Amino acid sequence: MKVLVINAGSSSLKYQLYNMTDESVLASGRVERIGMDSSIVTHEPAGKPEARDVSEILDHVTAVKRVIDMLIHPAHGVLSSMDEIDAVGHRIVHGGEAFKHSVIVTPEVKAEIKRLFDLAPLHNPAHMMGINAVDANMPGVPQVVVFDTAFHQTMPETSYLYPIPKVLYRRHKIRRYGFHGTSHSYVSEAAARYLNKPLESLKLVTCHIGNGASCAAIMDGKTLDTSMGMTPLEGLRMGTRSGDIDPAIVPFVMNKEELTLNEVNSMLNKHSGMQAISGLSSDMREVEEAMSEGDANAKLAFDMYVYRLKKYIGAYAAAMNGIDVLLFTAGVGENSATLRKAVCDGITFLGIELDDALNAERKKTARDISTPDSRVKVLVVPTNEELLIARDTYKLAMK
Ligand code: AMP
Repeated sequence: MKVLVINAGSSSLKYQLYNMTDESVLASGRVERIGMDSSIVTHEPAGKPEARDVSEILDHVTAVKRVIDMLIHPAHGVLSSMDEIDAVGHRIVHGGEAFKHSVIVTPEVKAEIKRLFDLAPLHNPAHMMGINAVDANMPGVPQVVVFDTAFHQTMPETSYLYPIPKVLYRRHKIRRYGFHGTSHSYVSEAAARYLNKPLESLKLVTCHIGNGASCAAIMDGKTLDTSMGMTPLEGLRMGTRSGDIDPAIVPFVMNKEELTLNEVNSMLNKHSGMQAISGLSSDMREVEEAMSEGDANAKLAFDMYVYRLKKYIGAYAAAMNGIDVLLFTAGVGENSATLRKAVCDGITFLGIELDDALNAERKKTARDISTPDSRVKVLVVPTNEELLIARDTYKLAMK
């Protein structure tokens, strides 16, 4: 059984082909600059050299066609024919309240994803183009959609409602949804397996810290709370996103600086966070490097980032009335020993004791970086959202 996983953006499409017998990746790649001249396909087949193709790809239908061409190419391919692909799984950013689990794509499911365009205008329409492109190229092949929001649909009202007039929730579904759900779900299950304990018996705070960053309080195997909200702007301080700010800043800045709604939205999403404070970069590696060379703004940006994360971990420990596992994942969480140390050394009162030597090790597998005496286990678990999408697709398509 072979499953193709697709993450379609408005001008890009990433893919991974899995052999579900052993969950190995047969090939992965990406199509960039869709709709522009000189689009680029980069294809990485397992055990063969990388292939690149530059040509004009005007739409997602052609992009998927090029992916299939690569997968069955005599030299770079890994399949003898397209018919070997049994199912396709898609990452979908927003599933609203309608989708609490992954589902097989049907006309009704497509209509519902369309109704959610309002909630994720930059993402869901692009995902829909990916689904339609697969329909056009591979008619009859089952497709499954896996939502970033689905895992957090277990949040109780106390976590997901905003204290604003309730009519806004009823009319426009303004509430907290949370994102990175596929990752929080994948790493929490992996942590339970690593610790050899049922997930339901653990209180975890999972920190998905990459370019975007969110943490989740996971109790009884379900999300109790998570830091992103109606959009991925809420919560932690991020690479270019502000995270939580006083909402009154928005009208104030619009008025004083004569900014439009779009401009202020762009300011908070693309020109804030670590980039704004460091004045340097949204990339944690560059901020850490500048900090080690004595750059005061880089240090301030790093300290603010860590401070917010510590506050959320503390808040979630309080919300769950305890914490058994603190988990780091994603680009920064998996790779930055400096960030993990700064966070953990500031919250020892919770029963967290980091082993500095284990923290400094570089490994690509799940690991415990706390001391044997640490009451709270501190884990680093590499995330793998594509694998979870492949697993859900396999499960649903095989039914
Ligand atoms: P992601 O969005 O999960 O791909 O994560 C991207 C972020 O991970 C970027 O801000 C990178 O700077 C950060 N990152 C990757 N490697 C490292 C590293 N060795 N140390 C610190 N940050 C890293």
